[in-house]
Amino acid sequence: MTLKRNKAKFRLKFIYCLQLGAKPIVIISILIPHLDIDMSSVLISGGNGFLGYHLVEKFISKGFDVTIVDDLSTSKRSDLLEKVTFYNKRIEDFNTDEKFDYVVHLAARPSPEDYISSPVETILSNSYGTRVMLETARKSNATFMYTSSSEVYGNASVLPTPETYYGYVNPNGIRSCYDESKRFSEAMIMAYRRQYNMKVRIQRPFNVYGPRIREDGIYGRVIPRFIMQALENKDLTVHGDGLQTRSFLYIEDWLSATMKFLLANSVSHEVLNIGSDSEITVFELAKLIVEMTKSGSKIVHTEAREDDPRRRSADLTIVKSDLDWSPVVSVREGLQKTIKWFRMRSE
Ligand code: UDP
Repeated sequence: MTLKRNKAKFRLKFIYCLQLGAKPIVIISILIPHLDIDMSSVLISGGNGFLGYHLVEKFISKGFDVTIVDDLSTSKRSDLLEKVTFYNKRIEDFNTDEKFDYVVHLAARPSPEDYISSPVETILSNSYGTRVMLETARKSNATFMYTSSSEVYGNASVLPTPETYYGYVNPNGIRSCYDESKRFSEAMIMAYRRQYNMKVRIQRPFNVYGPRIREDGIYGRVIPRFIMQALENKDLTVHGDGLQTRSFLYIEDWLSATMKFLLANSVSHEVLNIGSDSEITVFELAKLIVEMTKSGSKIVHTEAREDDPRRRSADLTIVKSDLDWSPVVSVREGLQKTIKWFRMRSE
């Protein structure tokens, strides 16, 4: 029976790949089954965003049957949407009877200016949205992954911060729409896991950056914003004294950890930091970007952000041993690739 179903699924996928104009490697791999191609299906919310794009690209290259739900509220339509099943919807309004092997909930507004200006949408995608995705995973008997955030730690007093640190968060402050809803989602996911015995993975990414990261005006995160300011010879706007730190993780490192975590048959820990422990102050970052772009920009200080965490650094002890993974791309190397991408974009 299983063999028959697998054969039918196999034939369907083959036709599907041909119809989509899938890469020849995918089609060849279907014909030669021992190649490293996975025929599983995955549903990704926010699959058109920065993290989503890279993840979807990886899944397509591995032969996954990919479905994306995204309302395009924070991203421009990407070329990959032609190669997947795409629902242009807010995640809270999404409903399907389809079954998936993996469900990944990425949809979110990670840029502070953006979530502060749309706090209700931010909370809804991390509450109703999480529920919709959890229910879809539960009905599918799928492995569920959530991109939580290092924001759950708030203004951490333990650095580097391990997964066991409970956080120091203002529950009704200006960033609470993001960090408290991320925390709420984590609680809901663990409730589902305890009550329904689901396979869940919660990752806490730390300031991921790289090509394709959103750079439009004030909605960009610090790296794309500084790069664009430098390339346009505008002042680099450092908020406050610039002595606050972040630990930036290059997208390729994030991707390798995410794939390992999601596809692992079993995990010792359901919550993992996916980040870097190499801290840099925002002021040092600004100097580095000016130097690397050979820009004539000045660095200026602007008003400090409210509730801006002073330091951020990931304790990687657990993720290193659980996933046999470490970040390998240095900030300089990652910035080089990112600057190159932004230069090509603006030419
Ligand atoms: N930042 C800055 N100037 C900017 C944008 C951001 O100094 O134009 C600082 C911000 O205050 C924070 C850090 O850079 O301390 C990282 O900000 P980002 O928006 O990337 O995200 P966060 O890590 O705060 O979620």
